[in-house]
Amino acid sequence: MSNFDLNKILRPHILSLAPYSSARDEYTGHIGIFLDANENPYGSVTEADYNRYPDPYQANIKQKLVPIKNISAEQIFLGNGSDEPIDLLTRATCTPGKDHVIILPPTYGMYEVSASIHDIIIDKVSLTSDYLIDIQGVLSAVTPDTKIIWICSPNNPTGNVMQHEAIQTILENFNGLVVVDEAYIDFTETPSWIQHLDQYPNLVVLQTFSKAWGLAGIRVGMCFASAGLIRILNKIKPPYNISLPAQQALLQGLDSIEKKDKMVAEILKERASLCNMLADLSLVIKVHPTDANFLLVQFEDAKAVMDYLISETIIVRDRSRVHLCDGCLRITVGTKEENETLIESLKKFQLNGIMA
Ligand SMILES: *Cc1c(COP(=O)(O)O)cnc(C)c1O
Repeated sequence: MSNFDLNKILRPHILSLAPYSSARDEYTGHIGIFLDANENPYGSVTEADYNRYPDPYQANIKQKLVPIKNISAEQIFLGNGSDEPIDLLTRATCTPGKDHVIILPPTYGMYEVSASIHDIIIDKVSLTSDYLIDIQGVLSAVTPDTKIIWICSPNNPTGNVMQHEAIQTILENFNGLVVVDEAYIDFTETPSWIQHLDQYPNLVVLQTFSKAWGLAGIRVGMCFASAGLIRILNKIKPPYNISLPAQQALLQGLDSIEKKDKMVAEILKERASLCNMLADLSLVIKVHPTDANFLLVQFEDAKAVMDYLISETIIVRDRSRVHLCDGCLRITVGTKEENETLIESLKKFQLNGIMA
């Protein structure tokens, strides 16, 4: 087992920090005359009332998440998108100019951006040619100052799930935080790492409402970890990081899991058919297998395809210059109609190419 000790990986000043005490921390009741937070007592300029500050710890939402995620409320942190816990985890553990994080490219860009913003040293360990974790490479990249290893599974932009045994080996042999970003967990049969949180005190799991739940616009990300680490994140977050309209939308959305499941089922069906249609095109070299709601597709001439699609006002993500993704575009699974329009455009492009 690893000798993980939360108090040793937190920056000393974070450990001893006294958090901002908000008006709503001092009195948590709901009934009364509230003259404690300098709010407007008459209401809002909008039709709906937003004149009161929201619950800083989103207790109602966490209550609903407990049975859904099968985890206790004190192991849940909600952030302004996943971006916020990514940033807070970096700030809680990494001393600028001194500490290191490990990322596994090609992967999600925010881990590197967050580290760069805080002047943290980034050690990159490439995924293998089949987009899996190079376990020996990761273990030998660890230094005494390495605080976080970022793992994305299913991985963006490659779409695949990372090996369970590799993540387990890292958890057992690394004394820092192992963050598993499961933004795309709803699109795979592979179980979440949430169920292993009690076994590994250094495990952190990220999920989001931006993908399967269809709530990218309200900006809410989930972070699951030990109660001790969640307490630290709560201590260093901006007090009212989840807005009232976002909390209201979530409370409503969490009562409609069946709608999320229905949309996911539809996306999975469309993913399979889009995958087949793309694989049938002669300009496609490879459709990478995926466990997410997007496809990484290698083309003969990715740039020409990208430019043509833009001229047809179809926007996909150019990943052709990303490490190990030569000639690849990342294509989100759209609606049935959107996917058919995409395929029609690609067929037109193919035909033009032949005639030119
Ligand atoms: C989309 C995505 C997220 C979600 O980010 P939010 O800030 O919650 O919208 C997180 N991680 C990865 C790998 C993603 O692709």
